[in-house]
Amino acid sequence: MKSKAGKKAKASKTQKTSGARKGRAPGPRDKVLERVLSEVTAEPQTQHLEQWVQVPCPYCGEEFEVHATSEQDGQTMYEDCHVCCRPVALLVHAEEGELHVEAHRS
Ligand SMILES: [Zn+2]
Repeated sequence: MKSKAGKKAKASKTQKTSGARKGRAPGPRDKVLERVLSEVTAEPQTQHLEQWVQVPCPYCGEEFEVHATSEQDGQTMYEDCHVCCRPVALLVHAEEGELHVEAHRS
């Protein structure tokens, strides 16, 4: 009687562990992939910056916020002024860990 009870307990234990293994397998792999991807895309020298910068509109003088990231460093993006809706050229440049945006008439 005692031996039968022991066998039953062992059987249920092995079932539980195998089920857990099946569930765990895909999870960590995905996380590792995400990590590798972010390490590859991020440049080692320049840290990733992302911030909202207030710029004065070159047309109407009203300030509005634009979203800039360090990937846009040295690039010009175009956005309509939030107040007068005229197209503004925004020159992004990163300096000492901060993002600056220059607004020009486009
Ligand atoms: Zn404006």
